[in-house]
Amino acid sequence: MAANGKKIWMDGRLVDFADAHVHVLNHTLHYGVGVFEGIRAYPTARGGAVFRLREHVERLITSAKFYHMPIPYSREEIEQAILETQAANALLPSYIRPLVYRGEPALGVKNLKGKVSLAIAAIPAKKYLGDGSEAGIRAKISPFRKPSSEALPSFAKATGNYANSYLAGADATLEGYEEAILLDCRGFVAEGTGENIFVVRRGTVYTPGLESDILLGITRDSVIRIATDLGFPVVQKLVSVNELLSADEAFFSGTYAEIAPIKEVGHYTIGTRAPGPITRKIMGVFFRVIKGEVPEYADWLTAVPQPARVASPAAARG
Ligand code: PMP
Repeated sequence: MAANGKKIWMDGRLVDFADAHVHVLNHTLHYGVGVFEGIRAYPTARGGAVFRLREHVERLITSAKFYHMPIPYSREEIEQAILETQAANALLPSYIRPLVYRGEPALGVKNLKGKVSLAIAAIPAKKYLGDGSEAGIRAKISPFRKPSSEALPSFAKATGNYANSYLAGADATLEGYEEAILLDCRGFVAEGTGENIFVVRRGTVYTPGLESDILLGITRDSVIRIATDLGFPVVQKLVSVNELLSADEAFFSGTYAEIAPIKEVGHYTIGTRAPGPITRKIMGVFFRVIKGEVPEYADWLTAVPQPARVASPAAARG
């Protein structure tokens, strides 16, 4: 992903992109103890809008609390700061990355005391899984499994969890695939490196649940709502590899990936190798929802105010 926004919000100040530094001995860098979000802003007929802002900020706060990193800003202040960052960077579509970290020099893994900071970047968003991703992508089952939530809780979006995604993603890339599908530690299908997964079999939409050590994706939640509203039964259950390989349709969902049909898993073809009818119906609604074209889901979008009209309470506190 290209990384060249103009300004980064750091603890209440908008600093130039090139000046957004932290100390090399910071705790988060060494031990992977930080939490973050990935959020998208889209152009709509009424201007820029952030998709499911509240849910992302709530997940950030939940993740931070679990990691003993209370964020020194309220939910409302974080939402304002995200809107302020988006407005200051004036780019659409954008990918917004809030990160909660301990940025001061502090070696020693048990450090609970270091100052907890919040940084928010907004950078240009592209298609994560490549330009062909709406036509279907090639994925492989990863040799790397998800860690059990008893070791690393999957509901928290922690930086350290992504060493696992990195290994799986690197293996898939080196093998010539666009994405990896990770199994949970019992061998059931869990998720992609940064996406949830859905399979469609005989008209029913299935997706793994929290017991498969997945991140409870906000796009996943949106897909479940849209599919249900379209009249398709949606079932959260353990999904076996065979159920995936013999599925009529399969697709990934995620903030960066949006909805990406899967056309191959290893050397197995999924359905007709083209996005299936149920996937296409769900995608059709989703891609209209994010443009603000479906009134029933209008509350999933938060308008980005013009820069002059944004005043962040957190910024005022400095
Ligand atoms: N699983 C993992 C491991 C992820 O990193 C992401 C991206 N945040 C998702 C699933 C999808 O979650 P969301 O739809 O909230 O972006």
